[in-house]
Amino acid sequence: MSDEIVLAKLGDEPEIFYSLQGEGVSAGVPSIFIRTSGCNLQCYWCDTDYTWNWKGTNYRHARDNLAGDNKFERSQVQLRITPEAIAQRILELKCHNVIFTGGEPLLQQQKLTEVASKLLAQNSAYEFEAETNGTIIPLAAFDAIMHRYNVSPKLANSRMDIDSRLRSDAMLWFANCPKATFKFVVSAPSDEAEVAAIQERYSIAGRRLLVMPEARTQHELEKNRGWIFELCVRRGWRYSDRLHVAVFGERRGV
Ligand code: SF4
Repeated sequence: MSDEIVLAKLGDEPEIFYSLQGEGVSAGVPSIFIRTSGCNLQCYWCDTDYTWNWKGTNYRHARDNLAGDNKFERSQVQLRITPEAIAQRILELKCHNVIFTGGEPLLQQQKLTEVASKLLAQNSAYEFEAETNGTIIPLAAFDAIMHRYNVSPKLANSRMDIDSRLRSDAMLWFANCPKATFKFVVSAPSDEAEVAAIQERYSIAGRRLLVMPEARTQHELEKNRGWIFELCVRRGWRYSDRLHVAVFGERRGV
């Protein structure tokens, strides 16, 4: 088995960058992002489909409707790097909140545990968050170093089949984990009933449930904020904005 982690590539470099957390319960917190490549889902509206939507696959994506070939040449958007090299880059960035994102980072949780262990050996102030689709149960060693799970279960609007996107064993694990909060991406008022059904099925308190607009552009975000705000007030759910989309639109690595 390779000792390397597969990360998204930004230009010629691994996608590791310092910014503010843009979504969820830690929004606004200065953070270092590590973007893994590869996902076990293929959501229709995914805003990081350069982590899985390779040329030669038959996955469908919203951008298929645009002119031209919108799939990615894998070698141009993916690279391999050792846990040591990732830890070294993080140490140079002088920030202690580290976010594993993707793609689906839990596909590589053993190697990410190695990254975290190397950082904690240098400084116990490091904290780790994972952005996950909630379909993979964390291993004990990974869970031991994690501080927060931002779990984003996918709805029917992702166009994924329900057995792929909602795994009961994993959902129950996260529902019973106090480090986990749930963030649902909604695109239409009809999504409300689906979120409510998942909330009830897994007994998720409203203070742990966030709703976020589906939006890859500033225009889409502005169009959806109003009705989602009102939905959250009525249901007692939390609202999550998308700071990066609001400030930068579709730019990567910010
Ligand atoms: S789970 Fe997340 S990264 Fe994977 S396809 Fe869906 S939106 Fe994209």
